[in-house]
Amino acid sequence: MNLSQIEAVVARALEELAGGAPTFPIPVEVSARHAHLSEAAFRKLFGQKAALIPRRVLSQPGEFLAEQRVKLAGPKGEISDVAVLGPLRPHTQIELSKTDCRHLGIEAPLRLSGDVSGAADLLVVGGHGCFEATGSAIIPKAHLHLRPQDAAAMEITDGMTVSVAVGGERPTVFKGVVARVSEDFSLALHIDTDEAGACMAAAGSLAYVVAAGSRAEPLAPPARPSRDERRLITESAAIAMVAERGQGEIFLPRAAIVTPSALDVFRAARRQVTRY
Ligand SMILES: [Zn+2]
Repeated sequence: MNLSQIEAVVARALEELAGGAPTFPIPVEVSARHAHLSEAAFRKLFGQKAALIPRRVLSQPGEFLAEQRVKLAGPKGEISDVAVLGPLRPHTQIELSKTDCRHLGIEAPLRLSGDVSGAADLLVVGGHGCFEATGSAIIPKAHLHLRPQDAAAMEITDGMTVSVAVGGERPTVFKGVVARVSEDFSLALHIDTDEAGACMAAAGSLAYVVAAGSRAEPLAPPARPSRDERRLITESAAIAMVAERGQGEIFLPRAAIVTPSALDVFRAARRQVTRY
């Protein structure tokens, strides 16, 4: 068997063991600062005859990046060349990172997109004029977009708050991530640029929902190595260990004998094995 065949076998075995995919990979998408504009704001910024021109469609159906850009101005600074997302919305909403807010000199609250309660004020500048966007600036809360079938597979319901682990060079767990479920969504974790910096997200980064409650957080090693002092680690034991440990490292007693097929399982699942 070559490595990809072994990977396929391990993936299938894991699914069977957990009664579903225990490691359901979710693409990570990073949202840079952007503005959603109301019709009134758009008219003031770009003129009565202007139309929002789509440049590129975004991953969530119906959403697009517009040709038009705006400048944002706060008490302490300005940010130019800010993306405008379409279509127009009933309310203007400007989504910024904490770093952006510090630069602009505003205190925007952490909110789920669509909730502008307590949102901060900003001045928006367009090609035609300015718009005082009062109560518009928020820091978007990290959230998951799930289709109903994804949500069912992960046993998540709309509005639930989950912890999500992002793997890679600087593995990070984000807590308080809000799950949003809709037929219209495509599967994605949306984080802002500060969060992307924290976990060093890169193209192709994947996230995994960390099962809440009794299951251990997958990225944390056990406080004390378990007393499971099995001397022989077989292929099936290895598969069970990988499933149990989620994305985490595998801890084995120094004296344990690991069969070559068990080693293949750890390799295929890309788990680091630490002896204790
Ligand atoms: Zn989103």
